[in-house]
Amino acid sequence: MSDTIEKVKCLIVGSGPAGYTAAIYAARANMSPVLYQGMQPGGQLTTTNEVENFPGYPEGITGPDMMIQLQDQAKRFGTDIRDGWVTKVDFSGDVHEIWVNETQEIHAETVIISTGASAKYLGLPSEQKYLQLGGGVSACAVCDGFFYRNQEVVLVGAGDSACEEAHYLSKLCKKVTMLVRRDEFRASKIMANRVKNTENIEILFNSETEEVLGDGQVVTGVVVKNNKTNALTEVPATGFFVAIGHKPNTDIFKDFLDLDETGYILNTPGSSKTNVDGVFVSGDAADHVYRQAITAAGTGCMAALDAERYLAAKES
Ligand code: NDP
Repeated sequence: MSDTIEKVKCLIVGSGPAGYTAAIYAARANMSPVLYQGMQPGGQLTTTNEVENFPGYPEGITGPDMMIQLQDQAKRFGTDIRDGWVTKVDFSGDVHEIWVNETQEIHAETVIISTGASAKYLGLPSEQKYLQLGGGVSACAVCDGFFYRNQEVVLVGAGDSACEEAHYLSKLCKKVTMLVRRDEFRASKIMANRVKNTENIEILFNSETEEVLGDGQVVTGVVVKNNKTNALTEVPATGFFVAIGHKPNTDIFKDFLDLDETGYILNTPGSSKTNVDGVFVSGDAADHVYRQAITAAGTGCMAALDAERYLAAKES
């Protein structure tokens, strides 16, 4: 328990496009927002390469550059942006209690959750072993692809992220082998065609990872199982990339907020309201359907407007 409890009007948890957009709107509405950035300031887009589909950037922009611009815009209107990790909440009373870094206690009139989602892994012991060792397992091609220049890598997944990452890696690596567990992609046609038409990407359909091979320190290959024939083959690789989707970062809220079976926060349709008055949600923490920077930003705006209206109703 901290000695001094800070009181804030609007606390924003998380710093992707949802959190920063909520901050821009809340700050301009004189709500003096305090924003905690979390473990990955800027969120998932800081691990993304080129963003070409956010309106207003006809030439595209890198994810990290876009996050810096959003952060600057939120600061310009007076958002108090802080480093720190929200470790516990208690939404059972009239006041919303939040603990930062286990110790600092904050009482917030409104809370906007924009904690996003994190990359999933397969969960195989061999994958986890080399992930922990930092020996060649990654869920972020943009972060780690550079280490595998002119080498051969394997990438798992068949969605838009997997295609984007495979294409990115193909520009750095000698060869990318893509493991697709069904006989078709989940990705949009344009993304799937891009990888199909890239010479140094080999796509293995109906293929799953049986084991990540290594020498005890770094990855040396992958045992691939064809799930139609059960045949096992060994693909040499120094990097093993996983691009199979994300898990919402909502564990700390589960005792107080309604979540779906995957952990996405349930909001009242058409609004950012959760089941707790004064607690709002925006971005990927509640969105398993669209999951785009632009939709996250849009729901960040909704959350700030909903929070402003909640405060106005309370004060009238
Ligand atoms: P998705 O949920 O769309 O795709 C996950 C992929 O991983 C699926 O192909 C799935 O296979 C596969 N997968 C899941 N679990 C396993 C497993 N255990 N073993 C092997 N494969 C597995 O996630 P994404 O991260 O690709 O995309 C999320 C959202 O973001 C989507 O809406 C996407 O359109 C969007 N997006 C858009 C981009 C853009 O427009 N530039 C870029 C990136 C993402 P299966 O198909 O068999 O279920």
